[in-house]
Amino acid sequence: MREAGVAVIGGGAAGLFAGCFLKMNGADPVILERNPECGLKLLITGHGRCNITNLKEPRELKHGYHEASNFVYPAINSFPPSSCVRFIEDEVGIKLKTEENDRVFPVSDKASDIRDGLVRYIGKDRMITGFKCVSIRKDDALFEIVSEDGSMVKAKYVILACGGMSYPHTGSDGAGFKLASALGHSIVKPAAALATVNTSPEFCGPLAGVTVPGVILTLYDRGTRKALSEGDLLFTHKGISGPSVMELSREIPARPDDTYILADFAKDITDRDLTELIDARPKALFATALASLVPRRLAESLLDDPQIKCSGITSAERKKILGRLKGFRFDIEEAPDINSSYCTRGGVELSELDRKSFGSKIVPGLYVIGENTDVDGISGGYNLAFAAASAHLAVKSIVG
Ligand SMILES: Cc1cc2nc3c(=O)[nH]c(=O)nc-3n(C[C@H](O)[C@H](O)[C@H](O)COP(=O)(O)OP(=O)(O)OC[C@H]3O[C@@H](n4cnc5c(N)ncnc54)[C@H](O)[C@@H]3O)c2cc1C
Repeated sequence: MREAGVAVIGGGAAGLFAGCFLKMNGADPVILERNPECGLKLLITGHGRCNITNLKEPRELKHGYHEASNFVYPAINSFPPSSCVRFIEDEVGIKLKTEENDRVFPVSDKASDIRDGLVRYIGKDRMITGFKCVSIRKDDALFEIVSEDGSMVKAKYVILACGGMSYPHTGSDGAGFKLASALGHSIVKPAAALATVNTSPEFCGPLAGVTVPGVILTLYDRGTRKALSEGDLLFTHKGISGPSVMELSREIPARPDDTYILADFAKDITDRDLTELIDARPKALFATALASLVPRRLAESLLDDPQIKCSGITSAERKKILGRLKGFRFDIEEAPDINSSYCTRGGVELSELDRKSFGSKIVPGLYVIGENTDVDGISGGYNLAFAAASAHLAVKSIVG
């Protein structure tokens, strides 16, 4: 049996940041991680490069957290991305760089540098790996944290940081929701956020690998417009992907009976532009003319006859193609897969947490941070920014 001041359950991004801040403040933390090593998911973030945060100002950044924007604001304002960058560079000793859209990465482009740096900062003597927490009890003063093999850790405070349900092979398989629920917390039903969308495989499959820049996407469910996004769209063997598609994915209902996405592949193009394009090159293949607006393979897929010349396009056909270009319909037949989503929507109900500390309003001494809570952010470093900021606020509350 080990006793510690603070037990952090889960050694992922949020748990490791919590461990660092506790160590920095001279607290006595122990990180309890089920895997043989901490931060497995961190290693695969940003395609192995780890987009650790996003340098937007907190007032702008908060809009990347959907319904939770006001809830997360005190955290990202108290530990803004600029502070996170300073901490990682000055304390952890890893140089960072800023790329397009304010996204921050390690200069080395290695996620392992971030993971290893955080682990080193805390010290392995403060970590118990292979500790799969199965229950948390609280007597008057101390929490008793019990692992699957029966070993126990006692602590005055518990920070629950077990993540969500995405990429369960990295360790976050929803156990944190069960632990919180057993302590009396409500869990908002988990669902996929930041997922690729399976749709129209017969259309998308042959286009796999094609990227279309600046596509406007509108998600409709039962006739109602539910979400809008804009960005590069990537065709996959089974459907569509890319940051803007992934952002819409969280709005797809569990039963997408009458759900579809309309894609505007050529947002600046009008019927007049298309007419001029056709008239300017009567002898050219229409697919060649269209390829000045969208990638050639997509242009061909949008046409009933890819061999038709511009001169052969009737006004009705032009209007039909314009409709496909500016409102291509992707019917959604299945909810996005939570296992392969980058982030989990749902988790510990936010009204049961104090947004100024991430402390539980139900169990004094318990804190819930990171993806274990009902917070999910858009892509671009938002989720790791939240992991760090929520950890910072919890630790600040504990150490006073
Ligand atoms: C492929 C991919 C790429 C991503 N890229 C980015 C990116 O570049 N930038 C970004 O901001 N976000 C990115 N994300 C999202 C980001 O990784 C997560 O939001 C973030 O890791 C959440 O941190 P967390 O600590 O809350 O959860 P996790 O990182 O999932 O950590 C939870 C930890 O708890 C442990 N655990 C679970 N249950 C128990 C238990 N019962 N007992 C003990 N330990 C337990 C797990 O093993 C795990 O180590 C990406 C996600 C994926 C899947």
